[in-house]
Amino acid sequence: MSDQSFDIVVLGGGSAGYAVALRAVQLGKTVAIVEKDKLGGTCLHRGCVPTKAMLHSAEVADEVRAAGHAGVDAELKGIDIAGVSSFRDNIVAKKFKGIQGLIKAKGIEMFAGEGKLTSATTVQVGAQTLTGKNVVLATGSYAKSLPGLEITGNVITSEQALQLDWIPKRVAILGGGVIGVEFASVWRAFGAEVTIIEGLPHLVANEEESVSKQFERAYKKRGIDFKLGARFSGVTQDDSGVHVSLETGDTIDADLLLVAVGRGPVTANLGYEEAGIEMDRGFVTVNDRLETSVKGVYAVGDIVPGLQLAHRGYQQGIFVAEEIGGLNPRMVEDINIPKVTYSDPEVASVGYSEAKAKEKFGDDKVESYEYSLGGNAKSEIVGTTGSVKAVRLKDGPVVGVHMIGRRVSELVGEAQLIVNWEAYPEDVSQLLHAHPTQHEALGETMLKLAGTPLHAI
Ligand SMILES: Cc1cc2nc3c(=O)[nH]c(=O)nc-3n(C[C@H](O)[C@H](O)[C@H](O)COP(=O)(O)OP(=O)(O)OC[C@H]3O[C@@H](n4cnc5c(N)ncnc54)[C@H](O)[C@@H]3O)c2cc1C
Repeated sequence: MSDQSFDIVVLGGGSAGYAVALRAVQLGKTVAIVEKDKLGGTCLHRGCVPTKAMLHSAEVADEVRAAGHAGVDAELKGIDIAGVSSFRDNIVAKKFKGIQGLIKAKGIEMFAGEGKLTSATTVQVGAQTLTGKNVVLATGSYAKSLPGLEITGNVITSEQALQLDWIPKRVAILGGGVIGVEFASVWRAFGAEVTIIEGLPHLVANEEESVSKQFERAYKKRGIDFKLGARFSGVTQDDSGVHVSLETGDTIDADLLLVAVGRGPVTANLGYEEAGIEMDRGFVTVNDRLETSVKGVYAVGDIVPGLQLAHRGYQQGIFVAEEIGGLNPRMVEDINIPKVTYSDPEVASVGYSEAKAKEKFGDDKVESYEYSLGGNAKSEIVGTTGSVKAVRLKDGPVVGVHMIGRRVSELVGEAQLIVNWEAYPEDVSQLLHAHPTQHEALGETMLKLAGTPLHAI
C-alpha cells in the first residue's frame, strides 16, 4: 500500500471527527478519517442513540401502564427485551448506514485500523503512513471506573448495559449523573428495583439546585431509591449477584452494579506526548482555537476538557474545519451549550444557574423566575409536573434557562436561542407560543421577567 497525502487527516471517526471531515470537504479540502472501530463512534453505537431508543421503549411501557388515566383500555403484558434490542439496533444500523453513505458520497477516505500520531503531520495505520497538512485528534472517551473497582461479571458500565439480553430485577447504580439516571429510568420502567449511589449531595448535581430537588422528588415517586452523599467502599459478587458496600456500613444487594462515574479521554499510547502535545490528566490541552501545543495539530470532542456531549463535538469539528479553512469562525462557549438528561422526567438547561450567575455577575445584578408546569395545559395533558426557570441580568439579557418535566428536551432549542442570542425577556415576551404547548411555559417565564405576566402569579 502506498503512503498518501491529504489536506487533513482526522484520527477518530466519532461525532467530532466526522464533523471535521464533512465541513472540511465543503471547503474544498481533501480529508482522510482513520477509525479503528465504527464510523459514528460512541454516540451512535454505544451512547446517545441506543440509550435514547431504550428510553423510548421505557416511555412506551409507562404510557401503557398509565393508559387507563387517559381512557384507553390497555394492559402492559411485559417487556420483550429481544424486541427492545432489535428496535434499538435497527435504529443504530439505519443511522450507521446513513453516515457511511454520506461520508462516501462526499469523497472522504476512510482508513480502517488503529492509528497512531507519528509526527505533527503524519498518522500511521498499519503499514500505511497518512500525511496531512493538518492533523485533527478526535479519539473520544471510554467509561471510567474507580481505582480497584474492576469491570467484570455483573459489575458493568454503560457499554455492557446496552448489550444485556435480560432485565435485572434489582440494580445498583454508582453515579447519579446523566448516564446513571438515564439507565435508572429505563430499568425502573422495565420493572426493576433501582438504587442509585451518589457521592454528591444531589442527583444530576450539575444542574440548577431547584431542578435537582424536583428530580429527586420525581424519582422517589417513581420508586427509584437513591443514597446521596454516599461513598462506595467495595463490591463482591457471587451466584446471587452483587453486594455493594458503602462507607456508612450499608450494603446494597442487586443483580447488577452499573458503574457510571464519568468518562476518561482515549489518549494513551497514541503518540500524542511523543509528538510534543501537551496533556493534562490525559486530556489534550488546546488554546481557544482548539489548536494543541503543536502547531497545525488540533483536537476536538471528548478528549478536550469540558462538557462531553455529541453536539459540542460537532460544533468543535465544524469550528476546526473552518479555522483551517481560514474562515475565522466563532464558537459557543461550554456554558451556553444546551444539556439534556433524557430520563423521566427530563432535565434540559442552557447557560448559568442562578448561583453561578450571582457568582459571576454579582448578587444584586441577577433576577430569576421559576414557572410551574402545573399552570401549563399541555403539561397537564401529557401528565407531567415540573418547571421552567429563567435567570436574567437586571435590565439585561437572559443568561440561563433550566427546565424539568416530561418532554422539556424539546424546549431547549428555543431556550438556547434565547440565551445565545442574548435576548431580553422583553424581546421574547412579544413573540407568540402556540397554545396549547409546553413552549408556553417558557413564554410565561419571559412575560413574568418582563413584568407583564399573564398566567404567572
Ligand atoms: C451511555 C451514553 C449516553 C450518551 N448520551 C448522549 C446524549 O444523549 N447526548 C449527547 O450529546 N452526548 C451523549 N453522550 C456523549 C457522546 O457520546 C460523546 O460526547 C461523543 O460521542 C463524543 O464524540 P467524540 O467524537 O469526541 O468521541 P467518540 O464518539 O468516542 O469517537 C471517537 C472515535 O475514535 C475512534 N478511535 C479512538 N482511538 C483510535 C485510534 N487510535 N485509531 C483509530 N480510531 C480511534 C473510536 O473507535 C471512536 O469511534 C453519551 C455517552 C454515553 C456513553
